[in-house]
Amino acid sequence: MMLDATPRDTVAERRALVANPCKTCQPVGAIYAALGVHGAMPHSHGSQGCVSFHRMFLTRHFKEPAMASTSAFTEGASVFGGGANLKTAVRNIFDLYDPAVIAIHTTCLSETIGDDLHAFTSDIEIPPGKRVVYCSTPSYQGSHITGFSAMTAGFIEHLAEKSGEPTGRLLVIPGFVNPADMRQVKRYLDDFGIDYTMLPDTSGVFDAPMTGKFELYPAGGARVAEIARLGDAAYSLALGYWASEPAGNVLKRSCDVDYQALGLPIGVSATDEFILALTRYSKIPVPPSIEEERGQLIDCMLDTHQYLDKQRVAIAGDPDHVLGLTEFCLECGMVPAFIGTGTPGGHFEERVRAILTKHGRKPDSCWVKAETDYFEIHQRIIQEPVDMLLGPSLFKQIARAEDIPLVRVGFPILDRYLHSYFPLVGYQGALHLLKAMCDALMDRLDRDSADADLEFVM
Ligand code: SF4
Repeated sequence: MMLDATPRDTVAERRALVANPCKTCQPVGAIYAALGVHGAMPHSHGSQGCVSFHRMFLTRHFKEPAMASTSAFTEGASVFGGGANLKTAVRNIFDLYDPAVIAIHTTCLSETIGDDLHAFTSDIEIPPGKRVVYCSTPSYQGSHITGFSAMTAGFIEHLAEKSGEPTGRLLVIPGFVNPADMRQVKRYLDDFGIDYTMLPDTSGVFDAPMTGKFELYPAGGARVAEIARLGDAAYSLALGYWASEPAGNVLKRSCDVDYQALGLPIGVSATDEFILALTRYSKIPVPPSIEEERGQLIDCMLDTHQYLDKQRVAIAGDPDHVLGLTEFCLECGMVPAFIGTGTPGGHFEERVRAILTKHGRKPDSCWVKAETDYFEIHQRIIQEPVDMLLGPSLFKQIARAEDIPLVRVGFPILDRYLHSYFPLVGYQGALHLLKAMCDALMDRLDRDSADADLEFVM
């Protein structure tokens, strides 16, 4: 069976090889961020093979088409540079597809040969009223999360201006989350009556309804005109230290708009922090409907505690997700045993250990690692088995090899449907996750119980 041959013992220093990475290419995140802007055409400055892979990856997660154009490098462009290809591509894209903005990102190839997007785009004629933004996303560094943050920051850097006339709007950068999560965050903002711009916003894009009519640019997404006014925004909230904070920082540096970075609002404490931030910003007390949701979540956590308490869990995926999932598992009385991400930077290990300490666990009570891979996590699980896996579909082979229940959460989920329609963030998101975790553990109890012990009432 697949992965049965994974050796038990880890190599102390394995630097030259990644096996089953906990991440994917930077451009995947750059395309996802660009598709969260209405009328944007993501453009991959590289070869056709790269963009085919990136589009396919997004399509398989969302079960929706993900469009993007390409500079279509061949041998000539690879040797002499892709400036001419980009010039032709931009002209053709505006002529054929009439986007409001072309959002260009680089790939390994265009970065390696030293293509300079700043110089290229300065030399390209852009039709009146149209815009071009760009960012650097070579995949030999970072991950889809840093690609997402680079493109989000790119929109701000190239479009946002300060006129001196305040808009009184809040910028919310939601992180690399599903459309259902963005809808959930927007619902809270609406409950507080806050005027906001969400950038990027893929709700109404990757969860647009079937109408029978093809829309090249679906109704959702942040408007270019709104992004242009972000320099006059009142404040920014960046949800996610990896996916969102860099863009908040760019707006602070370029237009002096203050920002607060928070973790993704996954679980009770992280959602509390987000709701309190909205209260502080709006000066409006927490609406009763939100208090009620929180109370329902706490009630359900108490009801299910007997099944989750002391269950050992391995958590992997994107760092902003993993932080939130770790804290929610601790809130449910579970025992995080192995925690990993493939994305570098951001003081991942320190942040996880701070969460462990906050919940009364020793900071070294579990194995925590950034820039790790599923091969190493599998080895750890073989050494000390866990009761549940929490993470993307990439955990699937370990789940099968070790016969451990897997709760799919995060990105990518390639082998299941509809997940992107159910939020993970907010109190309701935590309720969905709680149900999924409890179901997985109780299904396991049913499967493993003797005939005489199979209960209808549990
Ligand atoms: S060459 Fe680089 S950008 Fe292209 S698919 Fe491979 S890792 Fe991704």
